[in-house]
Amino acid sequence: MNILSEDGKSVISLKSWEEVFERPGFKRGVNPTEVKLKRIIGKYDFSDENHCGLSSCNTSHKKGYLVVCSSNIETNIGHKCGKKHFGVDFNELERTFRKDINVRNARENIQRRIGELEFIRERVNRMYKPEGLELFCRVRNLRESKEGITGALRVKLERRAKSGDEKVYDSVKASEADIVLEEEKRGRELTDNEKELLTVSLPVGIIYGVRAFNTYSVIKDILHDDMPSLLDELDQLDTSMLSDTQLIDWSKRLNGIDKNLLAAQDAIEDCKRFLVDSNIKFIKQYEQLI
Ligand SMILES: [Zn+2]
Repeated sequence: MNILSEDGKSVISLKSWEEVFERPGFKRGVNPTEVKLKRIIGKYDFSDENHCGLSSCNTSHKKGYLVVCSSNIETNIGHKCGKKHFGVDFNELERTFRKDINVRNARENIQRRIGELEFIRERVNRMYKPEGLELFCRVRNLRESKEGITGALRVKLERRAKSGDEKVYDSVKASEADIVLEEEKRGRELTDNEKELLTVSLPVGIIYGVRAFNTYSVIKDILHDDMPSLLDELDQLDTSMLSDTQLIDWSKRLNGIDKNLLAAQDAIEDCKRFLVDSNIKFIKQYEQLI
């Protein structure tokens, strides 16, 4: 169980019932009609059972809350007892506790990221220059120069990039064997006209890294436009000035870093596969089938 400190900025970890009982101010046999609850300071889920701290209950349980009552007595309350004995007030305290924990986790997450700042910055730089930038420029030029991939072919490739469909098929006239298969499927003989019109799809090849045709821009968006400014902002960040909501928002924003770096890395790998000469030659050669 992690216990929040009074200011909500740090936690104390309690690993067993013994550590709970040893806390100064901890008492059992508390009469719920004589005390008021002040705060929930921890939530536990131990592997063994122990008695509820409320005198009117005393039931054994594994899950519950560590609470501070009026006159600063601490006790433990089973997870169902709080609502039973203290009703709406307990719900409110639990909501506050959950929010405090979220804010504390957010603060910790931000501190961790600040600690990793230089490492992330280096990683971004290494990914962007020279390789990422070069790949970005090469795909962009391919899409924009006259000798590149433009017009209808560009539209077709964009569609494939979106779906990720790399396989290219050609439609050819059905062979005798194909006709036999088709007749088995339909359970009857084909007419001469049907045989004449029957075609089958044959794989011609693969457009490697086709997604790169669209995702190449992600390389610049993430590694040049978004990440450096985010990291600069983080560098200047003073968490003590942030409100609870701002802390949670910042934490969420920073959680996007790994996902974004992965997306940039994927785009780089796709560009490398896509830009191979034989791949581009294949695309131009089979333009009609794409
Ligand atoms: Zn109880």
